[in-house]
Amino acid sequence: MKALMKMLPASGLELREVEKPVPARDEVLIKVKAAALCGTDLHIIDWNMWAQNSGIKLPLIAGHECCGEVVEVGKEVTGLEINDHVSVETHIPCGKCLQCKIGEQHICNDLKMFGINTNGCFAEYAVVPAVCAVKISKKISFEFGSVFEPLGTSFRAVQKCEVAGKNVAVIGCGSIGLFAVASALYMGASQVISLDISSPRLEIAKKIGATTIINSAEEDTVNKIKSSTNGYGVDAIIECSGNVGAIEQGFKFLRKGGKYALIGLPGKNISLDLGSEVIFKGASIFGIHGRKMFSTWYALENALASGRLNISPVITHKMALEDFENGIELAKKGIASKVVFIP
Ligand SMILES: [Zn+2]
Ligand SMILES: [Zn+2]
Repeated sequence: MKALMKMLPASGLELREVEKPVPARDEVLIKVKAAALCGTDLHIIDWNMWAQNSGIKLPLIAGHECCGEVVEVGKEVTGLEINDHVSVETHIPCGKCLQCKIGEQHICNDLKMFGINTNGCFAEYAVVPAVCAVKISKKISFEFGSVFEPLGTSFRAVQKCEVAGKNVAVIGCGSIGLFAVASALYMGASQVISLDISSPRLEIAKKIGATTIINSAEEDTVNKIKSSTNGYGVDAIIECSGNVGAIEQGFKFLRKGGKYALIGLPGKNISLDLGSEVIFKGASIFGIHGRKMFSTWYALENALASGRLNISPVITHKMALEDFENGIELAKKGIASKVVFIP
């Protein structure tokens, strides 16, 4: 089969012809129908500090966000059949630690990641641990199925902030932020204010339905948000930029009693006056890593099957696996939001 591989630290991806894998007793083999490119893949391609320290063994078939059709089922697998459509949860839980036992597998103590610690899905076929192969409705397109993983992170952050009838700010309009905008609108937020420093990205937020867009490099963000919320600030913030300055600024426009969900990973420590910004304010801060397994998946599947979760504008490019160099280039330059490969 064709597979996009990272062979050596210093080289990019290569399209190779490799043996079609065989599923172990607790795995399924899927025919990959759509696979999305993620920022994490770019880190692996560039072999940055994070990639060097994440226990990746090369050579590796890259890619972790995908959707496909089950073509072979391991001996011990139950609940999955040939022809089922599945989307892949990338968090592979150990099943034995405290969190795994109390329903918090997504933050397992011995978490492994599909496509990072195992071969991934930028290929015609992929083996997936059965626990991570989530059967989804055939009503959902393969391309939407391929983005459950990143979308689920945004969706859960918005769920956590209970946004119905509330004013929400989403910081950062990368695909995670854009998915958060779509999720907040779907869940009934009254105002969804999108912030970024890139006008083309903000335009996508507008296309999704963001009620206000703010270019934070050009506008007085705090005043603009305060004046659209009667001076109080927003009820909730979904932070998707990972930008230290933006994260700190968020506390200035979060209202008293507000909720702040953090997804973006800052490259360095942030400085925060806990007294005035969190304690006296009665603010709640949530760290969001991955999706609840599998309550987020259940709600997200319903949302996508309803046709009311508007994520189409986020998937800006679809292409064959052979065009990977172009896809990576578009993503690196920020021209593409989500690139989906069709193997
Ligand atoms: Zn990803
Ligand atoms: Zn565990």
